[in-house]
Amino acid sequence: MKKILAVILFLTILLTACVKQAPQEAELFAMDTLMQLRIWGGENDLSAIKGEIVRLDTLLSATGPDSALAMLNKNGRADLTPELNELIQSALALSEQTGGAFDPTVYPLVCAWGFPEKSYHVPEKAERTSLLQYVGTQHLHINGTSLTMDAGTQLDFGAIAKGYTAQHCIEILKEHGVQAALLSLGGNVQTLGSKPDGSEWIIGITNPENPSQAVACLRFSGSMAVVTSGSYQRYFEQDGKRYHHIIDPKTGMPADSGLCSVTVLAQDGATADALSTALFVMGLERGTDFWRENDDFEAVFIVADGKIYATEGAATMLNDCSFTEIKR
Ligand code: ADP
Ligand code: MG
Repeated sequence: MKKILAVILFLTILLTACVKQAPQEAELFAMDTLMQLRIWGGENDLSAIKGEIVRLDTLLSATGPDSALAMLNKNGRADLTPELNELIQSALALSEQTGGAFDPTVYPLVCAWGFPEKSYHVPEKAERTSLLQYVGTQHLHINGTSLTMDAGTQLDFGAIAKGYTAQHCIEILKEHGVQAALLSLGGNVQTLGSKPDGSEWIIGITNPENPSQAVACLRFSGSMAVVTSGSYQRYFEQDGKRYHHIIDPKTGMPADSGLCSVTVLAQDGATADALSTALFVMGLERGTDFWRENDDFEAVFIVADGKIYATEGAATMLNDCSFTEIKR
């Protein structure tokens, strides 16, 4: 009898352990993309971060009628909440760090190409030149918590909002003592901790030629933001030519840097997001120089002919593909 009881007790403990190891999962559509959330441990944390994603979507969308950002763009000024102030300060710092390759004021050009409303159109050179005068962070004036923009200048957080949101959700989960999480916000993946079963995180890198498939995967343990910007993510075609949504703030044209995608690995989600966009604009050569001057990220570049290049740190995590390693 004692033996049977011991077996039952053992099975119960085993079952409880298994249940504890099963992740809670949710899917939602926000920020114009499908998001998948998976967490291990914690109680009501999934609904808490879902709520935060919806809140930040409303706050940071440039198109939403009631969003704080749309109001700012309409009025040309705003009193910044601490949250918006923090985001704008990091966007300004990243813009400076990347020599303006990431520039949150590129929005008038993004609109001229019709990306926000999906009413696509190729702007004439004269239109682009005239709109470029409003682009540049020198058109933003911050005094304490008050932001004023020069007439014609507009802000867009499209290249940083998902990374910022993922980072914010990870901070909430950490505060709540969640052991492990895998958040996938469109092309923005962020991990927290290590999987309870001890296995590595495996994050696929999309094949730009065939976006329903992966061309390689990254394997690692621990917390990391993995963000990809690619010309296959949003584009339209006109007269047999493809025009994608990552704009070179110097020319007002879709960045023609010879890259199909860039994946950035970094500790901070907003940084990884902004840098993936910036490196896409820079291209392989300038992007490599930039990586050599900065030690807070690693990157995987896929060039137009499909060749893959990985910086030293990324190379140690990259699997299932052949690639060229970029040394420091
Ligand atoms: P996605 O949003 O598809 O994941 P990105 O993070 O690269 O891709 O962001 C692209 C979006 O950011 C564009 O849709 C546009 O709103 C905005 N954007 C485009 N070019 C730039 C740029 N050079 N700097 C900052 N934002 C940009
Ligand atoms: Mg980005």
